[in-house]
Amino acid sequence: MSPIVNVEVQPPRLRGGRCQVCELVFMPAQGYGCERCGATGGDLLAVDIDSRGTVTAATVVYHDPDPQRTVPFRIIEVEVEHGLRVRGLAAAGEDLERGDRVVLARVPDAPVDDELAGVAFVRAGDAP
Ligand SMILES: [Zn+2]
Repeated sequence: MSPIVNVEVQPPRLRGGRCQVCELVFMPAQGYGCERCGATGGDLLAVDIDSRGTVTAATVVYHDPDPQRTVPFRIIEVEVEHGLRVRGLAAAGEDLERGDRVVLARVPDAPVDDELAGVAFVRAGDAP
């Protein structure tokens, strides 16, 4: 199970946390402490974050030292709810650019990634 994506729901949601003391929502989920107020332990709750968002940056990778990865592939940064930004992979064939509305989707041919295996961003409306 991915520590940063909940694939048990459709569309997949991002795993984050919420501080019960100051209401800060953060990503990824962690229990070290709230970066705003320092609260720890039971004051930090796990929450799922909507993966729908807007592309804020995109780049294409043509060379990767890992021979398991098929190049080229596209990495994008997406702003999701609460103003959080996450970097992820664009699904094969998705020429996503800044300003595009996207959502995470389970994809069988996602480039190999330890934390995001099996999911990638697709144009909103293309998701199954
Ligand atoms: Zn806090």
